[in-house]
Amino acid sequence: MPDAPTLDAPTPSENATLLWSDQVVLGDHETGLRVVAAAVKVSGTRIVDVTECDRETFENTVFSGKKRDISGRLLTPAFVNAHTHLSMASFRGMGGAAIMRNNVIEDLYFTVETKVEDADVRAFARMGAYESLRAGVGVVWEHYYGGTELAGAFEDTGLAGFVAPTLQDLDGPGVDRLDHQWQATYDLLENTSLADKGVFPALGPHATDTVSGPLWRRIADAASKHDLSVHAHVSQSIEEYERAHERHGVSPAKWLASTGALDARFLLVHGVFLSESDLKILDPARHTLGFCPYSQLQFCFPADVQSWDEAGVPWLVATDCAASNDGMGPQKELRFVAGLRSVATSWSHQQEAFHKSGSLHDARELQARRQRTFDAWPVWADPDRLLARVWSIPGRLDPKMRSGVIAPGAWAHLLTWDVSHPSFWPGNDVLRTLAYAEPGDALDGMMVSGKWIGEPGTFRQSLLGDGAYEEARSEANARLKSLLARI
Ligand SMILES: [Zn+2]
Repeated sequence: MPDAPTLDAPTPSENATLLWSDQVVLGDHETGLRVVAAAVKVSGTRIVDVTECDRETFENTVFSGKKRDISGRLLTPAFVNAHTHLSMASFRGMGGAAIMRNNVIEDLYFTVETKVEDADVRAFARMGAYESLRAGVGVVWEHYYGGTELAGAFEDTGLAGFVAPTLQDLDGPGVDRLDHQWQATYDLLENTSLADKGVFPALGPHATDTVSGPLWRRIADAASKHDLSVHAHVSQSIEEYERAHERHGVSPAKWLASTGALDARFLLVHGVFLSESDLKILDPARHTLGFCPYSQLQFCFPADVQSWDEAGVPWLVATDCAASNDGMGPQKELRFVAGLRSVATSWSHQQEAFHKSGSLHDARELQARRQRTFDAWPVWADPDRLLARVWSIPGRLDPKMRSGVIAPGAWAHLLTWDVSHPSFWPGNDVLRTLAYAEPGDALDGMMVSGKWIGEPGTFRQSLLGDGAYEEARSEANARLKSLLARI
């Protein structure tokens, strides 16, 4: 049994908490994950110490803060949802299935968004935040018009994350609000009280066809001067690809590179139309691609993440907004990612041949095709790799707040799971359950930025049961009614 000398060290704060569980998920996408008995010390907003030890060592540890034995509970990092627009929860179901036929962003969202007021954004984003928290998301990368109002919704609900006020000057509802959104970005940058709660700014250019060259250059300068991350939609639609060719004679990614914007630490979301030569200009050291499978299934089609892997560009999994997903839990996206190595077979030329002939030969060819792709991408289905796409890969996007990992120095965004719940039974592979199953009802505790959200043990019920949620829902209802009347 290892000694645990650091547990005996004087605690820096009476408010520190020492959690011990027989099942704590440690590690990240580089080391792999392991489930061990460990004590996790939280002080303020951070994890300050992690020591693998048994219960006896924990019980004998002298500690002046609060000690909590949570054995029987699995302790994990909270999920990180690295691309969303929380306020767009208000558009869920709007336009029906038919609106996804062409470009839903330009055909519907831009029109409605011209009527959305700042106070609406805060009220609607609160609802998206509640849904996110309930899904175990402690950190989001938010991108929307109304930056300071968004940050208000984070404060109202306890969510942490990076807020990127949307910047656009060529097309879209943000054109008239550009100065306002720049100001919101700088206000967030100077707001140390928000930073203390885990709410930080990022730069939020909308997309390559709605942002001009001079604005991209201004964004690149601001990223460099203030050490800000850039978070944008890139190559998300055929219209964007066409416009880049018509205006600049190159692809969106190549044009972006020519503006200098790719010199920044950059999260490029969707990448549906990214070619091999586009991928070659990305630098794995500072660029990360965002894959939002259930959203892309609705508004376009899933990006070819196999080519992203081949190019060696890191990628994460996120939900995008409720209007095109329709749920805010990134954990459910992982099963789709795992299944990508099988699903391509359904639309292969081998399937076409078999469909026409029904012959035994073509059936065997079809199965052989499935085996080839299945065997070529075993890592896609590995629970460690899947969970890394919603934990440590998005959690290391911006050094201002390391998340998605239980390690000293990381922010204390944690979840506790009741492993006696039937969704975990028989409990011999909890990581697989977290990646593949539907364990949401077993989520019973959540800490964000070192503070428990709701009541530990009854987190999901208490989150929605304390009156604040009803108040938020009632305001959002009234504002949505009024918005719909204005459209
Ligand atoms: Zn988006």
